[in-house]
Amino acid sequence: MTPLRRVSILGSTGSIGESALDVVRASGGNLGIAALAAGSNWRRLALQAREFRPLLVTAADGDAARELSRELAGSGIRVAAGCEGLEAAATLAEADMVLSAIVGAAGILPTLAAARAGKTIALANKESLVAAGGLITAAVRETGGILLPVDSEHNALFQLLAGRDASEVSRLVLTASGGPFFLRTGSLDEVTPEDALRHPSWSMGAKVSIDSATLMNKGLEVIEAHWLFGLPLERIAVVIHPQSIVHGAVELTDGALLAHLSPPDMRIPIAAALYHPRRVASPWQRLDLATLGRLEFFPPDHARFPALELACAAFARGGTAPAVLNAANEVAVQAFLDRRIRFTAITEVVADVLARGTVDSGLADIDMIMAADAAAREAAAEIVRGMQAPRRG
Ligand code: NAD
Ligand code: MG
Repeated sequence: MTPLRRVSILGSTGSIGESALDVVRASGGNLGIAALAAGSNWRRLALQAREFRPLLVTAADGDAARELSRELAGSGIRVAAGCEGLEAAATLAEADMVLSAIVGAAGILPTLAAARAGKTIALANKESLVAAGGLITAAVRETGGILLPVDSEHNALFQLLAGRDASEVSRLVLTASGGPFFLRTGSLDEVTPEDALRHPSWSMGAKVSIDSATLMNKGLEVIEAHWLFGLPLERIAVVIHPQSIVHGAVELTDGALLAHLSPPDMRIPIAAALYHPRRVASPWQRLDLATLGRLEFFPPDHARFPALELACAAFARGGTAPAVLNAANEVAVQAFLDRRIRFTAITEVVADVLARGTVDSGLADIDMIMAADAAAREAAAEIVRGMQAPRRG
């Protein structure tokens, strides 16, 4: 049977990528795979390629791509490598849709390439909109492409806003789980990567889990929401909702607040994006309001979790500042995961890099953005080196 829609998945071995493949598996042949791209996990890529028979498989890592070529020899599946491979997967003519689900700034160039090629993009890689939202949304407009949010909050808002006139909307509300430390009292200096990775409601990749714990994730998401929906940051609110059942809400000018609820399962927003604009029956768990119990909402604590305001301030500076914020955060998160810095130092590193003035506030093209990203990584690495390593518990 010919699939209705063939998807290229960038980041197929990750948490979002694997969930998307689950959605394709459950589609009964309605969805197919055009290309698979990932970093270095060639064994997983080879297994996925054998199961889904894409036209193209690509690994960022050259050695991984060589292993992949060996594994898939004689299969008729094209194997590529590096940036060229990623760009080929992002722009493949046979793909009806590109799921951008690489983690971090590595997703910027392939997402921009897909946008310039006029693709329908299902976007999980929020970092690309944070760093280059103006360029990506302009490319989508110019080519007549479509940008469909996969991030659960944005997917919820996208559904709530469908068919609604902008003049009726007064505010967008993004919910945040609050992460594993929302209820914790006392200093967060001593928390370990294991503590921080233990997310209360979602199972996700390491980077986004740490971002959820610092609340940087919500800062990135406010910027993401701005580029997707065009509202100024003052009209995008954040509320802590530990149950992660309400994903987003839209306040209308007449005072009505429309909310979107679903179980915290990324396959639900992924399926909504991959089938868009159709709604298709799914086998995943349903919500039963009668047994849900409490849904709670709290304001964010900016003193304990300064990353959210830091991200909004970087956005207000404009130009390359959000790209600098994002790159510094990636370096700091990795340093925390490697136990080189404290949890609370993550946000300190980002603030310090932004304060060093390596920011260009003018209109930035892609070369300026990528150069700012690289410079911010160097600055962040230097600050990390100068910090005291955390005590071993
Ligand atoms: P992950 O770490 O589980 O997976 C990342 C994927 O990217 C892997 O397939 C990896 O091989 C690939 N990758 C990394 N660097 C690469 C490179 N240089 N070139 C090619 N591929 C590369 O991450 P994740 O949790 O799936 O998150 C992916 C994106 O989706 C992030 O931007 C994240 O913020 C966003 N997101 C994730 C969730 C979630 O539930 N996991 C929810 C909302 C948004
Ligand atoms: Mg989210």
